[in-house]
Amino acid sequence: MCKECKKPYYITTAIAYTSGKPHIGNTYEIVLADSIARFKRAQGYDVRFQTGTDEHGQKIELKAEAAGVTPKEYVDNVAGQVKAIWDLMNTSYDKFIRTTDADHEAQVQKIFKRLYDQGDIYKGYYEGMYCTPCESFFTESQLVDGKCPDCGREVQPAKEEAYFFKMSKYADRLIQYINDHPEFIQPVSRKNEMMNNFLLPGLQDLCVSRTSFNWGIPVSFDPKHVTYVWLDALTNYITGLGYDCDGNSSEMFKKYWPADLHLIGKDIIRFHTIYWPIFLMALDLPLPKQVFGHPWLLQGDGKMSKSKGNVLYADTLVDFFGVDAVRYFVLHEMPFDNDGVISWELMVERLNSDLANILGNLVNRTISMSNKYFDGVVRNAGVTEDVDADLKAVVLDEVKKINDKMDQLRVADAITEIFNIFRRCNKYIDETMPWALAKDEAKKDRLATVLYNLVEAITIGASLLEAFMPETSDKILSQLQTEKRELSAMDQFGLYPDGGKVTDKPEILFARMDIKEVMEKVEAMRAAEAPAEEKKEEPEEEGIDIEAKPEITYDDFAKLQFQVGEIIACEAVKKSKKLLCSQVKIGSQVKQIVSGIKAHYTPEEMVGKKVMVVVNLKPAKLAGILSEGMLLCAEDADGNLS
Ligand SMILES: [Zn+2]
Repeated sequence: MCKECKKPYYITTAIAYTSGKPHIGNTYEIVLADSIARFKRAQGYDVRFQTGTDEHGQKIELKAEAAGVTPKEYVDNVAGQVKAIWDLMNTSYDKFIRTTDADHEAQVQKIFKRLYDQGDIYKGYYEGMYCTPCESFFTESQLVDGKCPDCGREVQPAKEEAYFFKMSKYADRLIQYINDHPEFIQPVSRKNEMMNNFLLPGLQDLCVSRTSFNWGIPVSFDPKHVTYVWLDALTNYITGLGYDCDGNSSEMFKKYWPADLHLIGKDIIRFHTIYWPIFLMALDLPLPKQVFGHPWLLQGDGKMSKSKGNVLYADTLVDFFGVDAVRYFVLHEMPFDNDGVISWELMVERLNSDLANILGNLVNRTISMSNKYFDGVVRNAGVTEDVDADLKAVVLDEVKKINDKMDQLRVADAITEIFNIFRRCNKYIDETMPWALAKDEAKKDRLATVLYNLVEAITIGASLLEAFMPETSDKILSQLQTEKRELSAMDQFGLYPDGGKVTDKPEILFARMDIKEVMEKVEAMRAAEAPAEEKKEEPEEEGIDIEAKPEITYDDFAKLQFQVGEIIACEAVKKSKKLLCSQVKIGSQVKQIVSGIKAHYTPEEMVGKKVMVVVNLKPAKLAGILSEGMLLCAEDADGNLS
C-alpha cells in the first residue's frame, strides 16, 4: 500500500511531568502506546505517535530553586532522563514534544487570547487558603491540621486575580457528544464515572491562570499571569502536529487531527474527557475519537510513589532482565480495566515460565533439531497427519483473535494469544515426537514436515511479537533466517520458503534466573541506596512488648493531638523481636518513635510512608530507646496492619 493511500492513525501518550525521573509505573504507558502504534503500522495504518514532557508549574519552579538551578535547566535535565528511558525501552515515537518548545508556547498564547476575545475566558478571583512564606494557595482538603502542608505554618484565606474558562457553556454539547459516541471514553466504566460525578451535577469554571508563580507561559495581554496547567499541557496534542490558531495549520495537522487515541492514566481521564473536548469545541476543532484511561501498575501494596519509597525504575529492571522481558512483563501484567502488580518475584517467574520455557526453549529446540536431523535445511516434505491441521487452525485462528484484541486495545490479552501459538507448538512437539521419528529412516519426510510446520508457526508467532517485543522478534526471525511476515499474509500457513535454512548457531533468547540470586542482588542494591542512619549506642533489652492500656473516656481521647508525619528513616531495634525505630518528620521537626510493628513492616518499607502520629504522648523509653510519640495503624481481621 502506498503511504498516501494508507489511513492515518494518530496516537498520543500523556506528556510526562518533569518534576523527576519517571518510574516503571509511568514508563508502562509509553510501552503500551508503542505496542499499539507498532501493531497499527503492521495493520497498514500511517501512524503518527507522539509523546513528550509537561514542563511548567510551581512544583518545578520550587524543585529547581531547591536544586540551585533555573527551571529551564531543571526541566532540560529531567526531559533528557524521560527521553533516555523512552529510548531505552525501544519505543517508536515520531515526535517528542516539550511544553517549553517555542512553537508550542507561541500557540498557547494565541489560543489563550482567542478564547479570551471570544468570551470563553474571563477575569475573576481565585480563592483559597494562602501560605505567605510558601506563596501558595491550598484548598481546605489539602491543609494538614489546618496548616500549610509544605511548611506547617498558619494559612490565611486569600484571593488572587485569575482567568477562568466558562466550562458550563459547553457542558450540554459535551454530554450529547459522549452519549452519541459510546466508544469515546474507554473503558466504559470510566464513562459513567465522568457523567455521574462531574458532568451531570454541573461543571465548575476552570482556573486557567495564576499570578503566584512565574514558571509558565505568560498570558500575552496580561503578562503578570502565567497559563495554568491544563490549557498549556493538553494543547500539546495539536501544537505537536503544527496546529495554528490563526488558521495556518500544517498539512500534518490536517492529515492526523482528530487523534484516534489519547492513551492516558485513569487519574487524568477527567481532564481529557471534559476539559480537553471543551477547549477543542471552543476552538471549533473536532474531538479526539477515543480516550483510553489505563489502570495503574502497582507495586505490592499500592500506587508507586517516591513518598511511599516503593519506586522501581525501568533502567534498574532492564539491567536485571533486559528490555524485552520488561516490556513483556508490563504489557502482560496489566489487565484492561484493573490495576496490575509488579514485583521482583513475579518478574522472575514470568521470565522463567513464559520467556525462557515456553518461547525460548521452543525456538532453541526447533532450530537444534533442524540442524541435528537436516543440517538446518527446512523442507516441506508434505507428509501430513491430522495433528498438523489442528496446529495450522490454531495458528490462523490466533491471528484473527490477536487482531480483534488489539482493535479493542486489550493488549495483555493479545500477548496471551500470541503465547498460545507457542504453547500449541510445544504441544505439537510432544504429539509428534520428532526424536522418535528420527530413529526411523522411513519417517524422514514426516520428520521434515513436522519441523517445517514448527518453523512456519514460529515465524508467524515471532512476526506477531514485533509490536510487543521488537528485539526478540528480530532475533527469532534472524535465527530462522527469514523476513518478518506481513500481517496481511497471515491468512495462510506455509509461506516459509521450502528448502530455507535456519542458523547453525542458535542463541539462547532468555536465560532462566534463580529467584534467590535475584533477591540477594536486589537486597544488596537497596542497601547501597539506603541513606546512612545514625547508630544508636544505648543498651538494648530483649523482646519488649507494648502494654495494653485501660479503657479511656472521651475526655481522655480529646486530649490527644494527632498530626500527619512522614517517615524519613527507619531501622530495626536490635535484639527486639517487635520494635522498629523511626525518624518521623512532623511539620518542621523530627521525632523519634519506637513502634511494635516489626512483624508487619521492614524498615525499608516504612521510609517514605505518611503516618498518623500521636504527638503529645509523654516521651518514654522502649528497649532503652527514647520514643517521642506513637504511630497509629489500623488492624484487619487477620491481624494485618496498615
Ligand atoms: Zn507554607
